[in-house]
Amino acid sequence: MSAQIIEYKTVIAGERMSASDGATMPIINPANGTVIARAPKCGSNEVNLAVAAALKAAPEWASKTVGERSKVLLKLSQLIMANLNELARLETMEHGSPIRKTMNFDVPLCAEQLEYFAGVGRALTGETLPVGPWCTSMTIREPLGVVGLITPWNFPALMVVWKLGAALITGNTVVVKPPSITPLTTIRLAELALEAGAPPGVVNVVTGPGETVGEALVQHPDVTKIGFTGDTVTGKRIMSLASSSVKQVGLELGGKNAFIVLADADVDSAVEGAVFGAFFNTGQVCAAASRFYIHESLYDRFTEKFVEASSHLKYGDPMNMETVLGPVAYAAHRDKIEGYIERAKKAGADLLLGGERPDTPDTKDGFFVAPTVFGSCSNDMEIMRDEIFGPVIALCKFKTNEEAVALTNDTKYGLSASVWTKDLEN
Ligand code: NDP
Repeated sequence: MSAQIIEYKTVIAGERMSASDGATMPIINPANGTVIARAPKCGSNEVNLAVAAALKAAPEWASKTVGERSKVLLKLSQLIMANLNELARLETMEHGSPIRKTMNFDVPLCAEQLEYFAGVGRALTGETLPVGPWCTSMTIREPLGVVGLITPWNFPALMVVWKLGAALITGNTVVVKPPSITPLTTIRLAELALEAGAPPGVVNVVTGPGETVGEALVQHPDVTKIGFTGDTVTGKRIMSLASSSVKQVGLELGGKNAFIVLADADVDSAVEGAVFGAFFNTGQVCAAASRFYIHESLYDRFTEKFVEASSHLKYGDPMNMETVLGPVAYAAHRDKIEGYIERAKKAGADLLLGGERPDTPDTKDGFFVAPTVFGSCSNDMEIMRDEIFGPVIALCKFKTNEEAVALTNDTKYGLSASVWTKDLEN
Protein backbone atom coordinates (compact mmCIF):
# COMPACT_ATOMS: atom_id res chain seq x y z
CA MET A 1 0.00 0.00 0.00
CA SER A 2 1.51 3.36 -0.98
CA ALA A 3 1.71 6.13 1.65
CA GLN A 4 -0.72 9.01 1.33
CA ILE A 5 0.72 12.07 -0.43
CA ILE A 6 -0.48 15.23 1.29
CA GLU A 7 -1.41 18.18 -0.95
CA TYR A 8 -0.30 21.38 0.74
CA LYS A 9 -1.66 24.85 0.09
CA THR A 10 0.38 27.95 0.64
CA VAL A 11 -0.68 31.03 2.65
CA ILE A 12 -1.39 34.32 0.88
CA ALA A 13 -3.50 37.16 2.34
CA GLY A 14 -4.47 34.90 5.22
CA GLU A 15 -5.99 32.32 2.83
CA ARG A 16 -4.82 28.81 1.97
CA MET A 17 -4.04 28.92 -1.74
CA SER A 18 -3.03 26.69 -4.62
CA ALA A 19 -1.18 27.97 -7.68
CA SER A 20 -3.66 29.64 -10.04
CA ASP A 21 -2.86 27.12 -12.78
CA GLY A 22 -3.05 24.21 -10.31
CA ALA A 23 0.63 23.31 -10.76
CA THR A 24 2.33 21.47 -7.89
CA MET A 25 5.83 20.21 -7.13
CA PRO A 26 6.78 16.99 -5.33
CA ILE A 27 8.39 17.08 -1.89
CA ILE A 28 10.77 14.15 -1.48
CA ASN A 29 11.92 12.56 1.75
CA PRO A 30 15.72 12.45 1.29
CA ALA A 31 16.01 9.52 3.69
CA ASN A 32 14.28 7.15 1.28
CA GLY A 33 13.56 9.00 -1.96
CA THR A 34 9.76 8.80 -1.63
CA VAL A 35 7.34 11.61 -2.43
CA ILE A 36 5.69 12.63 0.85
CA ALA A 37 3.71 15.69 -0.24
CA ARG A 38 3.03 18.13 -3.05
CA ALA A 39 3.26 21.89 -2.68
CA PRO A 40 1.92 24.62 -4.98
CA LYS A 41 4.26 25.54 -7.80
CA CYS A 42 3.45 29.23 -7.76
CA GLY A 43 4.32 31.72 -10.48
CA SER A 44 4.43 35.48 -10.90
CA ASN A 45 0.64 35.66 -10.47
CA GLU A 46 0.92 34.42 -6.87
CA VAL A 47 3.93 36.67 -6.23
CA ASN A 48 1.80 39.65 -7.30
CA LEU A 49 -1.06 38.53 -5.05
CA ALA A 50 1.28 38.00 -2.09
CA VAL A 51 3.05 41.35 -2.50
CA ALA A 52 -0.31 43.14 -2.89
CA ALA A 53 -1.55 41.47 0.31
CA ALA A 54 1.62 42.41 2.18
CA LEU A 55 1.40 45.99 0.90
CA LYS A 56 -2.23 46.27 1.99
CA ALA A 57 -1.44 44.88 5.45
CA ALA A 58 1.65 47.07 5.93
CA PRO A 59 0.12 50.34 7.28
CA GLU A 60 -1.91 48.62 9.99
CA TRP A 61 0.98 46.38 11.08
CA ALA A 62 3.37 49.35 11.11
CA SER A 63 0.95 51.39 13.20
CA LYS A 64 0.87 48.82 15.98
CA THR A 65 3.05 49.46 18.99
CA VAL A 66 6.17 47.35 19.29
CA GLY A 67 4.52 45.81 22.35
CA GLU A 68 1.55 44.66 20.27
CA ARG A 69 3.82 43.15 17.63
CA SER A 70 5.92 41.58 20.34
CA LYS A 71 2.85 39.77 21.73
CA VAL A 72 2.20 38.18 18.33
CA LEU A 73 5.80 36.94 18.16
CA LEU A 74 5.59 35.53 21.69
CA LYS A 75 2.31 33.79 20.88
CA LEU A 76 3.89 32.32 17.74
CA SER A 77 6.79 31.12 19.86
CA GLN A 78 4.34 29.36 22.21
CA LEU A 79 2.44 27.81 19.30
CA ILE A 80 5.68 26.48 17.84
CA MET A 81 6.43 24.68 21.09
CA ALA A 82 2.83 23.45 21.33
CA ASN A 83 3.34 21.93 17.86
CA LEU A 84 6.89 20.73 18.50
CA ASN A 85 6.28 17.11 17.50
CA GLU A 86 4.54 17.96 14.26
CA LEU A 87 7.07 20.59 13.18
CA ALA A 88 10.05 18.42 14.08
CA ARG A 89 8.69 15.44 12.14
CA LEU A 90 7.87 17.66 9.16
CA GLU A 91 11.36 19.14 9.11
CA THR A 92 12.93 15.68 9.42
CA MET A 93 10.78 14.28 6.63
CA GLU A 94 11.35 17.09 4.13
CA HIS A 95 15.00 17.79 4.96
CA GLY A 96 16.44 14.59 6.45
CA SER A 97 17.72 16.24 9.61
CA PRO A 98 17.69 13.68 12.43
CA ILE A 99 14.64 13.83 14.67
CA ARG A 100 16.83 14.16 17.77
CA LYS A 101 18.16 17.40 16.25
CA THR A 102 14.86 18.82 14.99
CA MET A 103 13.15 18.00 18.33
CA ASN A 104 15.94 19.33 20.54
CA PHE A 105 17.55 22.04 18.44
CA ASP A 106 15.78 23.42 15.36
CA VAL A 107 12.20 23.77 16.55
CA PRO A 108 12.94 24.86 20.16
CA LEU A 109 15.46 27.37 18.79
CA CYS A 110 12.81 28.78 16.46
CA ALA A 111 10.62 29.41 19.52
CA GLU A 112 13.50 30.88 21.51
CA GLN A 113 14.61 33.16 18.68
CA LEU A 114 11.12 34.63 18.43
CA GLU A 115 11.30 35.42 22.16
CA TYR A 116 14.61 37.15 21.45
CA PHE A 117 13.17 39.27 18.62
CA ALA A 118 10.09 40.09 20.71
CA GLY A 119 12.39 41.41 23.44
CA VAL A 120 15.09 43.11 21.40
CA GLY A 121 12.51 45.00 19.33
CA ARG A 122 11.44 46.87 22.43
CA ALA A 123 15.02 48.02 23.01
CA LEU A 124 15.53 49.58 19.55
CA THR A 125 15.93 53.33 19.71
CA GLY A 126 17.00 56.19 17.46
CA GLU A 127 19.78 58.71 18.12
CA THR A 128 20.07 62.44 18.46
CA LEU A 129 23.01 64.03 16.68
CA PRO A 130 24.91 67.09 17.93
CA VAL A 131 24.73 69.09 14.68
CA GLY A 132 24.63 72.58 16.26
CA PRO A 133 22.58 74.89 18.48
CA TRP A 134 20.43 75.99 15.53
CA CYS A 135 19.18 72.52 14.65
CA THR A 136 17.73 69.42 16.25
CA SER A 137 18.69 66.29 14.36
CA MET A 138 17.44 62.84 15.22
CA THR A 139 16.94 59.44 13.70
CA ILE A 140 13.60 57.65 13.85
CA ARG A 141 13.28 54.01 12.81
CA GLU A 142 10.47 53.29 10.40
CA PRO A 143 9.39 50.02 8.78
CA LEU A 144 10.56 49.51 5.22
CA GLY A 145 7.22 48.10 4.07
CA VAL A 146 7.16 44.78 2.22
CA VAL A 147 10.24 42.63 2.69
CA GLY A 148 11.00 39.55 0.56
CA LEU A 149 12.66 36.67 2.40
CA ILE A 150 14.37 34.02 0.27
CA THR A 151 15.47 31.16 2.47
CA PRO A 152 17.77 28.13 2.05
CA TRP A 153 17.11 24.46 2.74
CA ASN A 154 19.84 23.69 5.25
CA PHE A 155 17.81 24.79 8.31
CA PRO A 156 14.38 25.18 6.71
CA ALA A 157 12.41 26.47 9.71
CA LEU A 158 15.15 28.33 11.59
CA MET A 159 16.25 30.35 8.55
CA VAL A 160 12.69 31.58 8.09
CA VAL A 161 12.35 32.52 11.77
CA TRP A 162 15.63 34.46 11.85
CA LYS A 163 14.52 36.65 8.96
CA LEU A 164 10.84 36.75 9.86
CA GLY A 165 11.34 37.70 13.51
CA ALA A 166 13.54 40.68 12.65
CA ALA A 167 11.25 41.88 9.85
CA LEU A 168 8.01 41.56 11.79
CA ILE A 169 9.07 43.12 15.10
CA THR A 170 10.29 46.21 13.24
CA GLY A 171 6.87 46.61 11.60
CA ASN A 172 7.42 45.15 8.15
CA THR A 173 5.20 42.69 6.35
CA VAL A 174 6.78 39.76 4.53
CA VAL A 175 6.59 37.50 1.51
CA VAL A 176 8.65 34.37 2.14
CA LYS A 177 10.05 32.30 -0.75
CA PRO A 178 11.14 28.99 0.80
CA PRO A 179 13.37 26.50 -1.04
CA SER A 180 11.50 24.28 -3.49
CA ILE A 181 12.70 21.11 -1.77
CA THR A 182 11.71 22.11 1.79
CA PRO A 183 8.67 24.45 1.83
CA LEU A 184 6.46 22.53 4.29
CA THR A 185 7.67 23.88 7.65
CA THR A 186 7.52 27.41 6.20
CA ILE A 187 3.88 26.94 5.19
CA ARG A 188 3.11 25.57 8.65
CA LEU A 189 4.86 28.54 10.33
CA ALA A 190 2.75 30.95 8.27
CA GLU A 191 -0.41 29.13 9.39
CA LEU A 192 0.73 29.37 13.01
CA ALA A 193 1.51 33.08 12.55
CA LEU A 194 -2.14 33.63 11.58
CA GLU A 195 -3.23 31.66 14.64
CA ALA A 196 -0.90 33.80 16.75
CA GLY A 197 -2.75 36.93 15.67
CA ALA A 198 -0.70 38.22 12.73
CA PRO A 199 -3.34 39.96 10.57
CA PRO A 200 -3.93 38.46 7.10
CA GLY A 201 -1.27 39.63 4.64
CA VAL A 202 1.44 40.20 7.26
CA VAL A 203 3.04 36.79 6.53
CA ASN A 204 2.67 35.37 3.02
CA VAL A 205 4.43 32.40 1.45
CA VAL A 206 5.08 31.81 -2.25
CA THR A 207 6.31 28.31 -2.95
CA GLY A 208 7.91 27.66 -6.33
CA PRO A 209 11.18 27.80 -8.26
CA GLY A 210 13.82 30.40 -7.47
CA GLU A 211 14.32 31.26 -11.14
CA THR A 212 10.67 32.33 -11.53
CA VAL A 213 9.09 33.01 -8.14
CA GLY A 214 12.32 34.16 -6.48
CA GLU A 215 13.28 36.48 -9.34
CA ALA A 216 9.75 37.92 -9.58
CA LEU A 217 9.93 38.76 -5.88
CA VAL A 218 13.38 40.33 -6.18
CA GLN A 219 12.23 42.51 -9.09
CA HIS A 220 8.83 43.47 -7.73
CA PRO A 221 8.60 47.26 -7.45
CA ASP A 222 6.63 47.13 -4.19
CA VAL A 223 9.20 45.00 -2.37
CA THR A 224 11.59 47.28 -0.50
CA LYS A 225 14.21 44.85 0.75
CA ILE A 226 15.35 41.29 0.08
CA GLY A 227 16.85 39.07 2.78
CA PHE A 228 18.60 36.04 1.26
CA THR A 229 20.67 33.12 2.48
CA GLY A 230 22.09 30.58 0.04
CA ASP A 231 24.63 30.03 -2.69
CA THR A 232 27.07 32.82 -3.56
CA VAL A 233 26.18 32.58 -7.26
CA THR A 234 22.48 33.05 -6.46
CA GLY A 235 23.34 35.92 -4.11
CA LYS A 236 25.20 37.73 -6.88
CA ARG A 237 22.28 37.23 -9.26
CA ILE A 238 19.85 38.62 -6.67
CA MET A 239 22.07 41.62 -5.99
CA SER A 240 22.27 42.38 -9.68
CA LEU A 241 18.50 42.02 -10.25
CA ALA A 242 17.70 44.09 -7.16
CA SER A 243 19.91 46.90 -8.37
CA SER A 244 17.51 47.79 -11.19
CA SER A 245 15.00 49.02 -8.59
CA VAL A 246 17.74 50.09 -6.12
CA LYS A 247 16.48 47.66 -3.50
CA GLN A 248 18.27 46.98 -0.26
CA VAL A 249 19.61 43.43 -0.06
CA GLY A 250 20.95 41.45 2.88
CA LEU A 251 22.98 38.45 1.73
CA GLU A 252 24.35 35.57 3.80
CA LEU A 253 26.36 33.41 1.43
CA GLY A 254 28.82 30.55 1.37
CA GLY A 255 31.91 29.72 3.39
CA LYS A 256 34.96 27.44 3.34
CA ASN A 257 35.80 27.64 6.97
CA ALA A 258 39.23 26.96 8.41
CA PHE A 259 39.73 24.91 11.57
CA ILE A 260 43.23 25.65 12.85
CA VAL A 261 44.86 23.45 15.47
CA LEU A 262 47.98 25.11 16.93
CA ALA A 263 50.92 23.21 18.44
CA ASP A 264 49.78 23.81 22.04
CA ALA A 265 46.14 22.77 21.51
CA ASP A 266 44.40 20.23 23.68
CA VAL A 267 43.95 17.51 21.07
CA ASP A 268 40.91 15.88 22.70
CA SER A 269 39.03 19.18 22.90
CA ALA A 270 39.98 20.02 19.33
CA VAL A 271 38.77 16.61 18.12
CA GLU A 272 35.46 17.04 19.93
CA GLY A 273 35.02 20.49 18.38
CA ALA A 274 36.07 19.19 14.99
CA VAL A 275 33.51 16.39 14.93
CA PHE A 276 30.73 18.82 15.80
CA GLY A 277 31.96 21.59 13.50
CA ALA A 278 32.43 19.28 10.54
CA PHE A 279 29.42 16.97 10.73
CA PHE A 280 26.61 18.90 12.42
CA ASN A 281 23.64 18.92 10.02
CA THR A 282 25.62 16.51 7.80
CA GLY A 283 28.02 19.35 7.03
CA GLN A 284 25.28 21.44 5.40
CA VAL A 285 26.13 24.58 7.36
CA CYS A 286 27.57 27.78 5.89
CA ALA A 287 29.93 28.04 8.89
CA ALA A 288 30.88 24.32 8.94
CA ALA A 289 34.51 23.47 9.68
CA SER A 290 35.67 22.22 6.34
CA ARG A 291 39.39 22.73 5.72
CA PHE A 292 41.65 21.81 8.61
CA TYR A 293 45.15 23.16 9.26
CA ILE A 294 46.94 21.12 11.92
CA HIS A 295 50.38 21.79 13.33
CA GLU A 296 52.81 19.12 12.15
CA SER A 297 53.76 18.20 15.73
CA LEU A 298 50.29 16.87 16.48
CA TYR A 299 48.98 16.12 12.98
CA ASP A 300 49.20 12.33 13.35
CA ARG A 301 47.69 12.26 16.85
CA PHE A 302 44.84 14.62 15.89
CA THR A 303 44.16 12.76 12.65
CA GLU A 304 44.02 9.35 14.29
CA LYS A 305 41.61 10.52 16.99
CA PHE A 306 39.46 12.56 14.61
CA VAL A 307 39.08 9.69 12.14
CA GLU A 308 38.31 7.27 14.99
CA ALA A 309 35.64 9.58 16.48
CA SER A 310 34.12 10.30 13.06
CA SER A 311 33.92 6.59 12.25
CA HIS A 312 31.52 6.08 15.20
CA LEU A 313 28.99 8.69 14.10
CA LYS A 314 25.70 6.94 13.57
CA TYR A 315 24.14 7.76 10.22
CA GLY A 316 20.96 6.32 8.75
CA ASP A 317 17.21 6.66 9.28
CA PRO A 318 16.72 10.22 10.62
CA MET A 319 13.49 9.17 12.36
CA ASN A 320 15.56 6.96 14.66
CA MET A 321 16.35 8.88 17.88
CA GLU A 322 19.90 7.43 17.87
CA THR A 323 20.83 8.83 14.44
CA VAL A 324 23.16 11.82 14.45
CA LEU A 325 23.79 12.15 10.70
CA GLY A 326 20.90 12.13 8.26
CA PRO A 327 21.07 12.15 4.45
CA VAL A 328 21.97 15.26 2.53
CA ALA A 329 18.95 17.25 1.38
CA TYR A 330 18.51 16.12 -2.23
CA ALA A 331 19.81 13.67 -4.80
CA ALA A 332 21.63 16.18 -7.02
CA HIS A 333 23.40 17.55 -3.95
CA ARG A 334 24.54 14.01 -3.01
CA ASP A 335 25.81 13.56 -6.58
CA LYS A 336 27.67 16.89 -6.42
CA ILE A 337 29.36 15.88 -3.16
CA GLU A 338 30.31 12.50 -4.62
CA GLY A 339 31.90 14.33 -7.54
CA TYR A 340 34.11 16.25 -5.10
CA ILE A 341 35.09 12.98 -3.39
CA GLU A 342 36.05 11.28 -6.66
CA ARG A 343 38.09 14.25 -7.86
CA ALA A 344 39.86 14.49 -4.49
CA LYS A 345 40.88 10.83 -4.78
CA LYS A 346 42.24 11.50 -8.28
CA ALA A 347 44.06 14.63 -7.09
CA GLY A 348 46.06 12.52 -4.65
CA ALA A 349 44.35 13.34 -1.34
CA ASP A 350 44.71 10.48 1.11
CA LEU A 351 41.29 8.91 1.83
CA LEU A 352 41.22 8.12 5.56
CA LEU A 353 37.50 7.50 6.12
CA GLY A 354 34.32 7.02 4.07
CA GLY A 355 34.41 7.96 0.41
CA GLU A 356 31.89 5.33 -0.70
CA ARG A 357 28.09 5.58 -0.98
CA PRO A 358 26.52 3.80 2.04
CA ASP A 359 24.43 0.74 1.15
CA THR A 360 22.76 -0.47 4.34
CA PRO A 361 19.01 -1.28 4.45
CA ASP A 362 18.16 2.13 5.92
CA THR A 363 20.45 4.16 3.65
CA LYS A 364 20.31 2.46 0.22
CA ASP A 365 17.28 4.42 -1.11
CA GLY A 366 18.20 7.76 0.48
CA PHE A 367 20.69 10.47 -0.39
CA PHE A 368 23.38 9.51 2.12
CA VAL A 369 27.04 10.45 2.17
CA ALA A 370 29.16 8.73 4.81
CA PRO A 371 31.47 10.92 6.93
CA THR A 372 34.52 11.30 4.70
CA VAL A 373 37.97 12.48 5.72
CA PHE A 374 40.92 13.18 3.43
CA GLY A 375 44.45 13.63 4.79
CA SER A 376 47.64 15.04 3.26
CA CYS A 377 45.77 17.78 1.42
CA SER A 378 47.31 20.92 -0.02
CA ASN A 379 45.73 24.34 -0.38
CA ASP A 380 45.55 24.15 -4.16
CA MET A 381 43.24 21.12 -4.08
CA GLU A 382 39.60 21.64 -5.03
CA ILE A 383 38.38 20.13 -1.71
CA MET A 384 40.40 22.77 0.16
CA ARG A 385 38.97 25.60 -1.94
CA ASP A 386 35.31 24.91 -2.80
CA GLU A 387 32.36 24.94 -0.43
CA ILE A 388 31.24 21.30 -0.46
CA PHE A 389 28.31 21.65 1.96
CA GLY A 390 28.46 18.02 3.02
CA PRO A 391 30.29 15.69 5.43
CA VAL A 392 33.62 15.84 3.59
CA ILE A 393 36.71 17.09 5.41
CA ALA A 394 40.20 17.92 4.17
CA LEU A 395 43.22 17.91 6.51
CA CYS A 396 46.44 19.81 5.83
CA LYS A 397 49.68 20.11 7.86
CA PHE A 398 51.46 23.38 8.67
CA LYS A 399 54.80 24.29 10.31
CA THR A 400 54.44 27.88 11.63
CA ASN A 401 51.55 30.04 12.81
CA GLU A 402 52.39 32.55 10.06
CA GLU A 403 51.96 29.78 7.48
CA ALA A 404 48.60 28.80 9.03
CA VAL A 405 47.40 32.41 8.76
CA ALA A 406 48.53 32.67 5.15
CA LEU A 407 46.85 29.38 4.21
CA THR A 408 43.64 30.38 5.99
CA ASN A 409 43.46 33.73 4.25
CA ASP A 410 44.17 32.22 0.84
CA THR A 411 40.48 31.85 -0.01
CA LYS A 412 37.73 33.71 -1.84
CA TYR A 413 35.41 33.18 1.14
CA GLY A 414 35.27 34.99 4.47
CA LEU A 415 32.63 33.60 6.79
CA SER A 416 34.08 31.93 9.89
CA ALA A 417 37.17 30.21 11.26
CA SER A 418 38.26 28.69 14.56
CA VAL A 419 41.63 28.50 16.28
CA TRP A 420 42.44 25.81 18.87
CA THR A 421 45.10 26.79 21.38
CA LYS A 422 45.68 27.06 25.13
CA ASP A 423 47.36 30.44 24.77
CA LEU A 424 45.21 33.45 23.83
CA GLU A 425 48.38 35.30 22.74
CA ASN A 426 48.40 32.93 19.78
P1 NDP B 1 20.37 28.43 -3.79
O1 NDP B 1 21.13 29.65 -3.49
O2 NDP B 1 20.09 28.13 -5.22
O3 NDP B 1 18.95 28.44 -3.03
C1 NDP B 1 18.64 29.25 -1.92
C2 NDP B 1 17.29 29.92 -2.14
O4 NDP B 1 17.35 30.80 -3.27
C3 NDP B 1 16.17 28.93 -2.47
O5 NDP B 1 14.97 29.38 -1.90
C4 NDP B 1 16.12 29.02 -3.97
O6 NDP B 1 14.90 28.59 -4.53
C5 NDP B 1 16.34 30.48 -4.20
N1 NDP B 1 16.81 30.83 -5.54
C6 NDP B 1 17.50 30.06 -6.41
N2 NDP B 1 17.77 30.75 -7.53
C7 NDP B 1 17.21 31.97 -7.38
C8 NDP B 1 17.14 33.14 -8.20
N3 NDP B 1 17.69 33.17 -9.41
N4 NDP B 1 16.50 34.22 -7.74
C9 NDP B 1 15.95 34.22 -6.51
N5 NDP B 1 15.97 33.14 -5.69
C10 NDP B 1 16.62 32.04 -6.10
O7 NDP B 1 21.09 27.24 -3.14
P2 NDP B 1 21.00 25.71 -3.54
O8 NDP B 1 19.82 25.15 -2.89
O9 NDP B 1 21.03 25.50 -5.02
O10 NDP B 1 22.34 25.15 -2.92
C11 NDP B 1 23.52 25.24 -3.68
C12 NDP B 1 24.72 25.51 -2.82
O11 NDP B 1 24.53 26.75 -2.14
C13 NDP B 1 24.96 24.52 -1.71
O12 NDP B 1 25.59 23.38 -2.17
C14 NDP B 1 25.80 25.35 -0.79
O13 NDP B 1 27.12 25.35 -1.25
C15 NDP B 1 25.21 26.73 -0.92
N6 NDP B 1 24.25 27.06 0.14
C16 NDP B 1 24.67 27.86 1.16
C17 NDP B 1 23.83 28.15 2.18
C18 NDP B 1 24.26 29.02 3.31
O14 NDP B 1 23.70 28.93 4.40
N7 NDP B 1 25.20 29.92 3.09
C19 NDP B 1 22.47 27.59 2.28
C20 NDP B 1 22.11 26.79 1.12
C21 NDP B 1 23.00 26.55 0.12
P3 NDP B 1 14.78 27.10 -5.16
O15 NDP B 1 14.95 26.17 -4.03
O16 NDP B 1 13.42 27.09 -5.70
O17 NDP B 1 15.86 26.96 -6.18
